[in-house]
Amino acid sequence: MNYKKIILKSSRERSLIGRHPWVFSGAVKDLPLAENGEIVEVRTNHNELLGYGFFSPNSQITCRVFEFNDEYVRIDEAYWHKKLKNAFQLRKALFNDAETNCYRLLHAEGDFFPGIIVDVYGPIAVVQLLVKGMENISSIIYTGLNQLGFKHIYLKTKQNTQLLEQVEQASRWIGEIHPMPIIVMEHGVPFSVNVESGQKTGFFLDQRENRKILGDWAKNKQVLNTFSYSGGFSLYALQAGARLVHSVDSSKDAIALCDANVALIEKEAKHASFTEDCFDYLKRIDANTYDIIILDPPAFAKNARSVDNASRGYKNLNALGFQKIRPGGIIFTFSCSQHIDKDLFRKIVFSAAAESKRNVRILKQLSQPEDHPINIYHPEGEYLKGLMMVVD
Ligand code: SAH
Repeated sequence: MNYKKIILKSSRERSLIGRHPWVFSGAVKDLPLAENGEIVEVRTNHNELLGYGFFSPNSQITCRVFEFNDEYVRIDEAYWHKKLKNAFQLRKALFNDAETNCYRLLHAEGDFFPGIIVDVYGPIAVVQLLVKGMENISSIIYTGLNQLGFKHIYLKTKQNTQLLEQVEQASRWIGEIHPMPIIVMEHGVPFSVNVESGQKTGFFLDQRENRKILGDWAKNKQVLNTFSYSGGFSLYALQAGARLVHSVDSSKDAIALCDANVALIEKEAKHASFTEDCFDYLKRIDANTYDIIILDPPAFAKNARSVDNASRGYKNLNALGFQKIRPGGIIFTFSCSQHIDKDLFRKIVFSAAAESKRNVRILKQLSQPEDHPINIYHPEGEYLKGLMMVVD
């Protein structure tokens, strides 16, 4: 098969030679006459082959490279199935099904699969397709997932699936429908997940290791979990023997999920939930109520333009945390904004800490887990960062 070619400007080919997988529109010298989603070759200004990617003529990112190779590669079903199997093997080495049976199987660029996310919940694979090129090969991905043993595949789109009619909902299942919700295990902690109506693919899998760390510190503690969603951090704290846990989220559906999950482990007596804005909640509570506060908001910076506003949001949130935490208490603070890197996040938290005039020490720097790998040439993939701090 002959692929059409994208020729790069000589002034803009360095990052691609350095294996960064995105071709920005400004870097293109010659555009191919190719369809949206077509597989194209990426070549230097001197016509040397760098690799292969999905063409997106209408996007800022004109091409997403999935294979760096200076030789001809046959990109067929076997090619994709092999890559999928590699990703699966990495996860098999990480997890023991009885302890953890929910994880990310494909993490887009982090697995050299640009434009696709696949999250696993027991026998279910939830697929999100983010570029046309991936849509074009989706049936190959589905057969590959079948071969790995996933008989239930759910196609999740960005729109709010709660609004879908039941018939339409059913049409999103590829292969056999699986009844909802499903109970999955994460480090031996059970969670009820609804892949049809939940946020993202149903659960925030990326906080698994950070929840475990929280659990190590939560015994006999009073814990506040802000932006709690389905109670991920709350359940770990309760399982670890926290004296009480409060979960706060502005979404009534999220709070209902959280309460249902707390009921699964029969810890209702030690838990209370609040459907409320977290900033309002933090402002109204007395200082020194909590030994541990978790701040895990949604991405405040959705794009590069909103970084300034988002930084203010993170600063205000963390400032409230520093004001309210009990002396000797611990704050777990996070940002999942791709556009706010680790250094900037640390500066923001630093400036919030400085306002509090309290001694603050970083005990641990937190990140995303191994099933969310970061392609070293694609630092944008490192989206989750966090700090665990003790406040005197
Ligand atoms: N920590 C969670 C994931 C948080 S996702 C986990 O481990 O699973 C972010 C959550 O913040 C969502 O559930 C959303 O409903 C909630 N949220 C967004 N803005 C909020 C606000 N201003 N106040 C309270 N909750 C908010």
